[in-house]
Amino acid sequence: MLQINKNMDHLGTETAFEVLARAAELERQGRDIINLGIGQPDFSTPQHIVEAAQKALSDGHHGYTPSQGILPLREAVAADLNKRHNVEVNPDAVVIMPGGKPTMFFSILMFGEPGSEILYPDPGFPIYRSMIEYTGAVPVPIALKEENGFSFKAGEVLSQITPRTRLIILNSPGNPTGGAVPEEEIKHLVEGLMAHPHVAILSDEIYSRMLYDGRRHVSLLRYPELRDRLIMLDGWSKTYAMTGWRLGYGVWPEALVEKVVRLAVNCHSCVNAPTQFAGIAALEGPQDDALKMVQAFDERRRVIVPLLNQLPGFRCVEPGGAFYAFPNISATNMQAKELQNRILEDAGVATVAGTCFGIHGEGYIRFSYANSIDNIKTAIERIGALLTNLKAVSA
Ligand code: PLP
Repeated sequence: MLQINKNMDHLGTETAFEVLARAAELERQGRDIINLGIGQPDFSTPQHIVEAAQKALSDGHHGYTPSQGILPLREAVAADLNKRHNVEVNPDAVVIMPGGKPTMFFSILMFGEPGSEILYPDPGFPIYRSMIEYTGAVPVPIALKEENGFSFKAGEVLSQITPRTRLIILNSPGNPTGGAVPEEEIKHLVEGLMAHPHVAILSDEIYSRMLYDGRRHVSLLRYPELRDRLIMLDGWSKTYAMTGWRLGYGVWPEALVEKVVRLAVNCHSCVNAPTQFAGIAALEGPQDDALKMVQAFDERRRVIVPLLNQLPGFRCVEPGGAFYAFPNISATNMQAKELQNRILEDAGVATVAGTCFGIHGEGYIRFSYANSIDNIKTAIERIGALLTNLKAVSA
């Protein structure tokens, strides 16, 4: 019998990938499936970014790079953060990673162990809880409620802190809800955290460029009093349609940089060189394509939310950011998972049950609107027909 580390029993996954596998299986059988399940832009990476990677390869950038990432890329990140958030960031505090995920993986590994507690958003990105459980730390959900537009309430978060709390994970704009935390809540939270100097923060800001209706992103980097315990995660995947390139970064407290780089050396050595050059081109080149994508997401948001609200048994709050809508489906009298499966099998539309994102996701389903307006309209029509049918059968 093989003896595997028992922590493996606690490692979860992203169940969204199971939906995608089933959707692909149905497609192979010849079914027409509309995918509103996947959390990735349906656009191509802008051409000038692709060309920068091709040029890097032609120029001979084939070797290892420094584990922390090449300096020009870290400088480009610092300049971009200065431009977007009006903050000073030392390029030496920036650690380049193969995607956004490794920054959360390494932060949770660094802080989690049996006897410690980590707060995380629920419903939220499933990897947070999965990794917390893997380390043996106690996962403490921060319930994100529909009536608060899926934002946290600072007072509630602060009341969950104990002497055992090591790390608080925040994510705004959020996956799966599209919720954006208002500036006052962030301010209250930061003020309250001054009384808890033993607590670190991981702020997942991967959707920071995707905000709507004039909302402005408030990065936690804007609070200098938090810098010595803040890890800010961002990356290229969503903003520049670069999910498959695997490029992201963390801005780390100076005291932790050496530690996270040591983890990177032990794990992946470095991000591949051409991708890092592509990252520079993305940040320093024209932003028109990135802006066009956000405009397209906003247009689709304005289409999908009213349509969802017309579906029998659905109620959907306006998402403030990202590219997700998270309607309340409890009035359909079906559990989230059951409805997700019905919608996929009978209407040919892939969505993800709210429960894939935590216990507080029951009663909700996630729709990704990273798809064309035509597909969104057809998908909602098909779901409408299915729900009307089901109602007629049960009447
Ligand atoms: N953080 C959140 C909230 C996400 O939704 C995702 C991807 O879906 C990530 C991080 C990971 O991004 P990446 O693909 O760059 O690893």
